[in-house]
Amino acid sequence: MNCKNGGWSGELFHKLFWIAANTYNPFVYNKEIEKITEFDPNATKYLDKCTEKWSRHQFDPKVCCDHNTTDFVESFNTLTKSYRDLPVLTLFEEPHHLTEYARQELIELRSAESRFCYYTPCGGGEYEVRDDHVHFPMRIDTKKCGCGVWQVSGIPCKHGLRVIYNQRLSHEDFVAEFFKGAAYKQTYAMPDPTQWPEYSLPTIKPPGIKRSAGRPPKQRRGGGVPWKLRRGRGIV
Ligand SMILES: [Zn+2]
Repeated sequence: MNCKNGGWSGELFHKLFWIAANTYNPFVYNKEIEKITEFDPNATKYLDKCTEKWSRHQFDPKVCCDHNTTDFVESFNTLTKSYRDLPVLTLFEEPHHLTEYARQELIELRSAESRFCYYTPCGGGEYEVRDDHVHFPMRIDTKKCGCGVWQVSGIPCKHGLRVIYNQRLSHEDFVAEFFKGAAYKQTYAMPDPTQWPEYSLPTIKPPGIKRSAGRPPKQRRGGGVPWKLRRGRGIV
């Protein structure tokens, strides 16, 4: 939207921008930036000045999160749809299975793609993986691949999986700790109330909502968007 307001839009710019934003690889990024410069040098000047990290290859590998849009929230909402009516305690248990399910889906997709990669051991724990006509240097001990996907997402890329499977290792041992049950439990671990920090804020009382008759509606009402501009009914 910022680019659009700056006067850079259209199908070509949109395509170049999103290739640059979605790449995990500085080489691909620089190539796309060259094309954007050809399109309009001022667009490159603006993008260079952006302090926000908007391309995946710039993301901090320590975070292990490669989302650059909020689309995954919509996907997550779709996944949780069938769980929304569950009692609170059961609902608390479900998201663990959901994140596990989402991770498993990704691994399955990358495993299928890994069948088309070929590798050569280079000694010293390093491998060269061929994917179509591109060759990537890869190490499974440091969980790094030249394509950049493994470092940024925290989940082995297809090149890593190819070697992991061929060596009869388990992919689960090569997934970042963030995605494992222990990290999940640690995130929601609650210390004993006696150890909670002191605070001097007013006591928060539950809202005085009166439950109306009948079954609660499942579809959200999109706020602030005129009815005729809404996609479908209810959910925007
Ligand atoms: Zn890779």
